[in-house]
Amino acid sequence: MGSVKDYFSSLGHGISSLVKGMQVTGKEFITPKITERYPENRDTHHYPERFRACLELIYDAEGNHKCIACGTCERNCPNGTIQVITKMVDTWDGKKKKKLDRYVYDLGSCTFCQLCATTCPTNALTFSNNFEQAVFTRSKLVKQLNYLPEKPEPEPTEEEKAKILAEREAKIAAAKAAAAAKAAAAAKAAAEKPAGESTTENK
Ligand code: SF4
Ligand code: SF4
Repeated sequence: MGSVKDYFSSLGHGISSLVKGMQVTGKEFITPKITERYPENRDTHHYPERFRACLELIYDAEGNHKCIACGTCERNCPNGTIQVITKMVDTWDGKKKKKLDRYVYDLGSCTFCQLCATTCPTNALTFSNNFEQAVFTRSKLVKQLNYLPEKPEPEPTEEEKAKILAEREAKIAAAKAAAAAKAAAAAKAAAEKPAGESTTENK
């Protein structure tokens, strides 16, 4: 008797599960299809705003980027996708300054973790959502992100020139004063030295 009861109980569960499954299937059957007809829909294709397709340097309207070549992104990238190549340039005040020479990014090895952009101290990086990056050779996935010519060092203003000149003159004056004080101290010490001491030394 027990086995007959078990049989009908299992049958009930089976039918109930079948109905539930058919409900899901029926719902999907009448749901509008969302298959993208790419590339025919290229003009109307919608992609999320924060979709990460390719790393880029942010350029402003005047062609400047904010990368200071600090190398933080390169150090933080977990798989060596970024290479920040730097150069030293002379500034108008006679100092040396490190500047970005080439920013090399290998799209083929990027995992789109965004650590580089998140840790950049000047917010110089962003991800574009330009996903059409297909190429025939991997080497073409290596990109130079600073593609515009680098701007020359800005000319100093008259105030900056005057400030530097004043600082230089102050340094020269301070050095001269220090040398004069040292010479005076030496002369005073020589004058105060007992006469006997110099006689002993002469012997
Ligand atoms: S992109 Fe940002 S983190 Fe990378 S080198 Fe330039 S300033 Fe530094
Ligand atoms: S997104 Fe991640 S893997 Fe890609 S370059 Fe930036 S840090 Fe490297």
